[in-house]
Amino acid sequence: MKLRVVVLGAGFGGLELSTILSEMIGDRLDLTLIDKNDSFYFGFSKLDVMFGRKPADAVHLAYSKMVKPGVKFRQETITVIDPVTRVVTTDKGTYEADVLVIALGADYDLAFTPGLSEAGNEFYSLQGAERLREVLPTFLKGHAIVGVTSAPFKCPPAPSEAALLLHDYLTERGIRDACEISIVMPFGLPIPPSPDTSKALLTAFAERNIKFIPQRMVTALDPSHKLAILDDGTGMPFDLFLGIPKHRAPEVLAGSGLLINGWIPVDRKNLKTQFPDVYAIGDVTSVGTPKAGVFAEGAARIAAASIIAELEGGSASSPYTGTGSCYVEFGHDLVGRVDVDFFSGPKPTGSFLEPSEELVRDKQYFGSSRAARWFGL
Ligand SMILES: Cc1cc2nc3c(=O)[nH]c(=O)nc-3n(C[C@H](O)[C@H](O)[C@H](O)COP(=O)(O)OP(=O)(O)OC[C@H]3O[C@@H](n4cnc5c(N)ncnc54)[C@H](O)[C@@H]3O)c2cc1C
Repeated sequence: MKLRVVVLGAGFGGLELSTILSEMIGDRLDLTLIDKNDSFYFGFSKLDVMFGRKPADAVHLAYSKMVKPGVKFRQETITVIDPVTRVVTTDKGTYEADVLVIALGADYDLAFTPGLSEAGNEFYSLQGAERLREVLPTFLKGHAIVGVTSAPFKCPPAPSEAALLLHDYLTERGIRDACEISIVMPFGLPIPPSPDTSKALLTAFAERNIKFIPQRMVTALDPSHKLAILDDGTGMPFDLFLGIPKHRAPEVLAGSGLLINGWIPVDRKNLKTQFPDVYAIGDVTSVGTPKAGVFAEGAARIAAASIIAELEGGSASSPYTGTGSCYVEFGHDLVGRVDVDFFSGPKPTGSFLEPSEELVRDKQYFGSSRAARWFGL
């Protein structure tokens, strides 16, 4: 009998976990990977799309290209998850699992921030990034705000990256002097676990005349007065608002019994939920690492090791360390890197690699190596 694994969500976590299980136990595996979309795209490709560096078509990686022993992909929308019976219902059928892995990521709740849909923009979805590619050329002068509306949010460096890339974009168009850029963030520093990365970002902001407003969030936009209302009640006038919308677990999880305080709690050692043989990995969990692809991938490795160990009657050796490296776009065609470690010590730590052309190539390899590993491209 083959092990029936059902993986919900073919993002960073679901793709990595399916790949590992296929490589390690493909001959004993009957894995169904389900996603509502027909293709995957990296989070960072949204920045490429919004600033016109790549067309949206170029960033899609079609699931139809994925051919792996023991794995079949189904493009279906998941409608019900029962973690007790491990039965999953979709718009097209029903799946029973010996082992269920939930890797559904985080969705956005634009309605949480009054005025955001009417008067603002978001660049956290591919559709939002595509819309912004049309909106940005119409921005000629005035105040641009990159504003976080709620925490937690994916990829903590992304708002800083957006502000720095916006500076370059406006400079190239010869209108930077007619524009102000501000960034509103809930943290005291751009990247709290890494003082060196934060210092480098704050220096880059100062050099480019980008105003950093720490420990604040944008709670509403007033469309008639074009004001961003902050959580201390102050109003900031804006002409262009680039928002980071409130994140929430996908709707299908409401009522599943898996969510506590909005996210799925897991055992940090092995990414197991409170339900037997049900794992959760990536942004959908409250494991304690930032919501980022590299952490979803790291969690996938630990969950896969636990699934294989239990199949073979042993126990997985290494617990999840919550380590990961994030590339940071610094503008001026340079990329830096922050290496963070969340669980090894008493508090999270991070180290910083200065922006360089070499790291631009490393970031490209980060993407191309995953495209090759997951899709055989
Ligand atoms: C602007 C931006 C820049 C980023 N830059 C980086 C970066 O440089 N490095 C980095 O590591 N991370 C980055 N990220 C974050 C990264 O994209 C996410 O953290 C990562 O994709 C999370 O992986 P995941 O597997 O948990 O979820 P996801 O990759 O989001 O996958 C979840 C999948 O579940 C599917 N799904 C959800 N609900 C259903 C349903 N009901 N039925 C069927 N399918 C469903 C979705 O379609 C999706 O494919 C960035 C994000 C943004 C927005």
